[in-house]
Amino acid sequence: MLDMTPKEVKERSALRINPCKTCQPVGAMYCALGVAKCMPHSHGSQGCCSYHRTVLSRHFKEPAIAASSSFTEGTSVFGGRSNINTSVKNIFDMYDPDIIAIHTTCLSETIGDDLNSYILDMDIPEGKKVIHCNTPSYSGSHVNGFTNMMLGFMNYLAKKSETPNGKTAIFPGWQNPGDERELKRMATLMGVPYIMFPDHTGVMDAPMTGSYEYYPEGGTSIEDIKSLGDCDSVLALGEITCTEPAEYMEKKFKVPYKLIPMPIGVAFTDAYLMALQMASKNEVPKQLEVERGQLVDLMLDSHQYTYQKKAAIFGDPDTVIGLTSICLEMGIIPKYVITGTPKEDFTRKIKSMLEQYNVTDCTVKANADLFELHQWIKNSPIDILIGTSYGKQIARAEDIPFVRAGFPVLDRYGGTLLPFVGYTGGIRFVEKVTSALMDRQDRDCTDEDFELVM
Ligand code: SF4
Repeated sequence: MLDMTPKEVKERSALRINPCKTCQPVGAMYCALGVAKCMPHSHGSQGCCSYHRTVLSRHFKEPAIAASSSFTEGTSVFGGRSNINTSVKNIFDMYDPDIIAIHTTCLSETIGDDLNSYILDMDIPEGKKVIHCNTPSYSGSHVNGFTNMMLGFMNYLAKKSETPNGKTAIFPGWQNPGDERELKRMATLMGVPYIMFPDHTGVMDAPMTGSYEYYPEGGTSIEDIKSLGDCDSVLALGEITCTEPAEYMEKKFKVPYKLIPMPIGVAFTDAYLMALQMASKNEVPKQLEVERGQLVDLMLDSHQYTYQKKAAIFGDPDTVIGLTSICLEMGIIPKYVITGTPKEDFTRKIKSMLEQYNVTDCTVKANADLFELHQWIKNSPIDILIGTSYGKQIARAEDIPFVRAGFPVLDRYGGTLLPFVGYTGGIRFVEKVTSALMDRQDRDCTDEDFELVM
């Protein structure tokens, strides 16, 4: 399928081939789905909204509800005010959400629709809310859209009162519900009262009940978002996704924040645990100590199969930073590390991790695409490919073991229910990578070397 990818690499600045990202509104929509009884709303054409919903539904294997302003040619000329007013009325009448979270699209950004003033003039039913954020898709990626929607909710809703709520605000960044569930479990075990924002547990991993609910039980409540300004501190996970929301909390409400990487692997999960410990002052419970010990033990046991293996890792920046960290802990050389999101902080961070482990001769790039990753692999092969489903054609063309991680995973089931974060998530990752390498060894070895016990 990608067998004809040429080996010769040419520098490109104006063209992306097989991009490693998608558009901002996808992230905005996903963020909004993590708020209780919220209807995400795409201010643009129906085609945009259909695409955003489709990519989310295909990854989570759950319906991703959202509405659209349904722009026509006329709207593109005269502006989207009338469409958004009709939409908001219809949505509250027909679907009865507590809040509508509007994001813009390329078209509404290009014609310069001023959502802020439209919302101020709107007829919003008593007790209901409408918020918005700008997500111009010709810059950044879905990760920036996610950040922008977090800021949109906070701008419209978050307040500081006279009474602190005694809670820690946990910003999980872009996570699957399985990861969010694990982060909450660890916070609960550490005795930390928290508000997780956003929170997709119960929504994007809703159980089969026999009846369809527009708004499954779950998501951060509007009340909790309102009280973010009363939190004692913010624990922001993922330096690329969560820096701006964390800084906003400090600037606007004087709530101090701690920014740590997405807690994948031993070191980054330790950092999360220590931050929770600082918040609660409680001892780390035995259960978490045991899980940590099991992860380290598994890494040691499997080391002979992972040590010095070369990997290519790609996907969203915070996820890739976490995956690179755990790969280094497993003795894997992250030969190629890329993200499609344009953020130079990403390359700085990965390079400093490589230096820390004294690993050289690796290529790290932000704003990269999968075509160039494929070309690099053709020139200097690797042992394993780690990333989203979009790597499967490369894995097939080059006959490389492939471990799916990150967003989106469109061609496998169940991954969104299980974590990669925390010690238990680390165990899952090590098992997946080691099994992929061992399966390959079993496939390729001679009969004499085909071992029952490995
Ligand atoms: S037109 Fe823009 S907002 Fe719509 S799907 Fe394409 S990139 Fe996304």
